[in-house]
Amino acid sequence: MNKKSADKKAFLIVHGMLQDFLSSSSNPPHEIYFELHPSVKDLFEAQGIPHTAVAKVEINGMEQDFSYNIQEGDQIMLYPYDELAADYVDQIYQSPSSFIADVHLGKLVKTLRLLGLDCAFDPHWDDQEIIDRSNAGPRMILTRDLQLLKNGAANYGYWIRSTNPDEQIQELFARFDLAEKVNPFTCCMKCNGSLQQAELQEVKDSVPPKVQQWHSDYWQCTNCGQVYWQGSHFKDLQQKVDKLLKDH
Ligand SMILES: [Zn+2]
Repeated sequence: MNKKSADKKAFLIVHGMLQDFLSSSSNPPHEIYFELHPSVKDLFEAQGIPHTAVAKVEINGMEQDFSYNIQEGDQIMLYPYDELAADYVDQIYQSPSSFIADVHLGKLVKTLRLLGLDCAFDPHWDDQEIIDRSNAGPRMILTRDLQLLKNGAANYGYWIRSTNPDEQIQELFARFDLAEKVNPFTCCMKCNGSLQQAELQEVKDSVPPKVQQWHSDYWQCTNCGQVYWQGSHFKDLQQKVDKLLKDH
């Protein structure tokens, strides 16, 4: 909404990571112009901040919900989840965290599963399916698509800032306290199911004879049946895990 057609003014102060969403680099409070009485949710989403990123809204010092109708001169204060106590966040998102990622985050999904973190993913899911599964879980939506997080039906979402998969996983470590929740090599890379140890006799048909000669430990996905063993690239994966966990 531009300044000319909108005659009323409110003031916006955003805290912490919510500032990443604002294009304006001017110092707060930001002046926002509006017409009629939009909800505070509509107003801050128009500024680029998805409601799924906002934990708490204060208007003129009082906590309000997203449907509050903005009045001339209101002072709007927005708080992100990362400034709230960890147990409050856990209450909302459950612990350990469960995620669901959009189609563009395939590499990040692989890393999460390698670390044993539950992340649902299917490149064929559209926005509505991702939102439905997120709400049913509940699962935190991971996406770089702000439109997905602004969808009114979405309750849980985190906007991934970086485009680099190595930085993306570090972002999640910082935001969700993942270090306490990792359990490497317990999650199926293919389907997100859990792995359990299996005897060779049980999985023989899925293991090439050469592998059977050299390996005695096997794991099988309880969901899709995929069989795993510590093959030639296991060392690389172990190194990757060690590197990821080094600083946490
Ligand atoms: Zn599986």
